[in-house]
Parts: sequence; structure tokens; C-alpha cells
Amino acid sequence: MHQPTHPSQGPGPAAGIGTAWCAWHEGFSVTARPVQAADGAVHFACLSCREAYSLTPLTDPS
Ligand SMILES: [Zn+2]
Repeated sequence: MHQPTHPSQGPGPAAGIGTAWCAWHEGFSVTARPVQAADGAVHFACLSCREAYSLTPLTDPS
């Protein structure tokens, strides 16, 4: 007998796993990290935008 240990999630993309809104290109990205913008506010920026704008993520792992 096979008893599922995990509930069926069905096909399709996994929603909400590491996805955040990139404020620079205004779209969701799985690579988005919080960065401090020039105005002092914290926004999420994806990897491409961080490279393009030389942004440093606040949670930069050491
Ligand atoms: Zn972006």
C-alpha cells in the first residue's frame, strides 16, 4: 500500500517560494533580495537589477 506523506500540490509552478517583487524592473523574481535604495527605503531588487544598478543586498551572506 502506498500512502502519500505529502498532500498533492498538482501541476504548475510552485507559488511563493522565494519570490519577491522587484521594485526596479517592477516584476516578480526568485532572485529578489532586500536592498537599501538611494532614498533610504528598503526595496527588493532581483539579481539582474542589482548587477545593473550596483546594488548591495542587506542580507548579503558573509
Ligand atoms: Zn529586477
